[in-house]
Amino acid sequence: KEKPAEQLAGDEQVSYEDIGGLKREIGLMREMIELPLRHPELFQKLGIDPPAGMMLYGPPGTGKTMIAKAVASETEANFLSISGPEIVSKYYGESEQKLREIFDEAEKEAPSIIFIDEIDSIAPKRDEVRGEVERRVVAQLLSLMDGLKSRGKVIVIAATNRPNSIDQALRRGGRFDREIEIGIPDREGRLQVLYVHTRGMPLSNSVNLERIADTTYGFVGADLSSLCKEAAMHALRRLMPRLKIEDEIPPEIMDELTVNAIDFEEA
Ligand code: ATP
Repeated sequence: KEKPAEQLAGDEQVSYEDIGGLKREIGLMREMIELPLRHPELFQKLGIDPPAGMMLYGPPGTGKTMIAKAVASETEANFLSISGPEIVSKYYGESEQKLREIFDEAEKEAPSIIFIDEIDSIAPKRDEVRGEVERRVVAQLLSLMDGLKSRGKVIVIAATNRPNSIDQALRRGGRFDREIEIGIPDREGRLQVLYVHTRGMPLSNSVNLERIADTTYGFVGADLSSLCKEAAMHALRRLMPRLKIEDEIPPEIMDELTVNAIDFEEA
């Protein structure tokens, strides 16, 4: 039987250093999630409930999934991930059951982070079209969140590109009542993302990441990541005429890829 959700395997771990920019947002996340996960006693002492959930909103490819994974990795919390559309379609007829299983597992394996991507698809505003399944899924989700026994030890992070089209009931009463915007990066943010993605690359001396950051207005993290990969592929393509795919790669070609191999002019 298929597992309801995945835990982060070793190679899926994300550290805060892998995230370009978003320093303020990471700081807020740590306060909202890492603090209660690590020290629920602080909240007890103050007589307040630690948060059960929070919302990340912003355009696609800006790092929402990444930042949620990073908090899970850094706190060594279990990461259970599910997408809104998936819970409705893939588990058609047993969506609520699936949600209960995920929450069960999260509580058993606490501390845990439950990540729900594209929450808007299951919880659109009341005046938007909403099917019976979606209504039941939202009701189940809210009741599971309200009923969390290990509050603070299980936190639900929901992500959406469309914060304004979400049922307001989700925002009330200690559910997803905190939110952080993960926006399109500015020049400095783009530069930081470029640094992260070129960290392990043999860049040509002519590469000026500052200039690339200047000229990539509107690019989000995912776009910049693709750009870097594309630049690396160009370096490979340059060498292609000189190698046979079925043979071993000659050492001099490996050497050529060690320094000065990648420029961004072609990409
Ligand atoms: P979606 O709404 O489409 O799910 P998302 O905001 O969750 O998008 P991610 O899945 O976190 O975006 O990012 C996609 C990829 O883009 C990441 O795997 C990473 O390679 C790159 N990326 C995005 N933002 C950043 C960032 N701030 N720093 C470094 N890489 C980033």
